[in-house]
Amino acid sequence: MSNLDGALTGALTRRQDQSLYRRRAVVGSPQGVEIRRDGRPLLSFCSNDYLGLANHPAVIEAFVGAAKDFGVGSGASHLISGHSSAHHVLEEELAAFTGRERALLFSTGYMANLGVINALAGRGDAVFEDRLNHASLLDGALLSAAKLLRYRHNDTEHLQRQLDNTVARHKLIAVDGVFSMDGDFAALPALARCAQKNAAWLMVDDAHGLGCMGENGGGSGEHFHLAPEDIPILVGTLGKAFGTFGAFVAGSDALVETLIQFARPYIYTTAMPPAVAAATRVSLRLIQGEPERRSHLQQLIKMFRAGCELIDVGLMPSDTPIQPLLIGDSQRALDLARQLEAKGFWVSAIRPPTVPRGSARLRVTLSAAHSQQQVQSLLAALAEVAGEC
Ligand SMILES: *Cc1c(COP(=O)(O)O)cnc(C)c1O
Repeated sequence: MSNLDGALTGALTRRQDQSLYRRRAVVGSPQGVEIRRDGRPLLSFCSNDYLGLANHPAVIEAFVGAAKDFGVGSGASHLISGHSSAHHVLEEELAAFTGRERALLFSTGYMANLGVINALAGRGDAVFEDRLNHASLLDGALLSAAKLLRYRHNDTEHLQRQLDNTVARHKLIAVDGVFSMDGDFAALPALARCAQKNAAWLMVDDAHGLGCMGENGGGSGEHFHLAPEDIPILVGTLGKAFGTFGAFVAGSDALVETLIQFARPYIYTTAMPPAVAAATRVSLRLIQGEPERRSHLQQLIKMFRAGCELIDVGLMPSDTPIQPLLIGDSQRALDLARQLEAKGFWVSAIRPPTVPRGSARLRVTLSAAHSQQQVQSLLAALAEVAGEC
């Protein structure tokens, strides 16, 4: 074995021994409720395609049409020659949708979070983050020269104490709107008040709220009836409820200009393909024009929660399409996921370090594309596997 491979094998073996080893399943069909995984048909309850738009005919048609008009690759970064009219119009539409002055596309949500935090916070500044924030928000702060302080999950008093003790010049509070592995909302009204009182800047990553929460799909802010000024820095991703790919930041003209000048993950990367932007414009139209997707999803969430109350499955509190079942032990979570798979269901076991140690879970996600009957069939399967262990 080479020196390199010898050095790597130890950590790989340890990961396996801890039941934390990751494996990829190979999908041989479009995303959707009925999916082919490693050659086998399964009913999927694990994707973030919350509105069923990833394989929507109108979105596909826009994508194909734009590929014919614009080609596939964007050819360069946005600041060189890669910023197409398809990108530009989508940015204007996203700004209008979110009620902000401007919006700026990023190639991924991970890069948007790295870019925003590093453009806004540096030496002498502090970033305050919920302990359960998405890895990209945490990595963004770790990569910056600012100090990172993590407060207990949704504990605004803990955050206030940290703010009381800071001498930082700029204070950035960065939080998930909906926590990706827990499904609960951030306490946004309290955080907005806290930010205003302490002259801190509030940044909300609404990857799991935008499109599916709020009456008009406006996300966590709309859910809590907050004004755009309450959330001056809004990050949205396009790979989840929008069903396409990429991300955007919405806010003031000054914010967007700052990102264009200083956000390195914006500047030093190739623009997303214009056809992705064109497809996303159709997704946005569906999000705005078909509220019945959201109301059906809400019905499914209520039905799933009511069904889980009848079986002992560790359902966590959540009003969103993310409905995790707390298991605890990583191996047990894997075993349960395998038993569900044997019954024809794909539910993913989420383990550390994605979630805190000892809190492995089955992360059930619901989609507007599920039927009531499909959700009932998952409940029946859960009742059986819960009884077996
Ligand atoms: C998925 C996700 C991201 C990353 O977005 P990508 O576009 O997939 O890179 C960022 N934040 C949260 C909360 C997410 O769930």
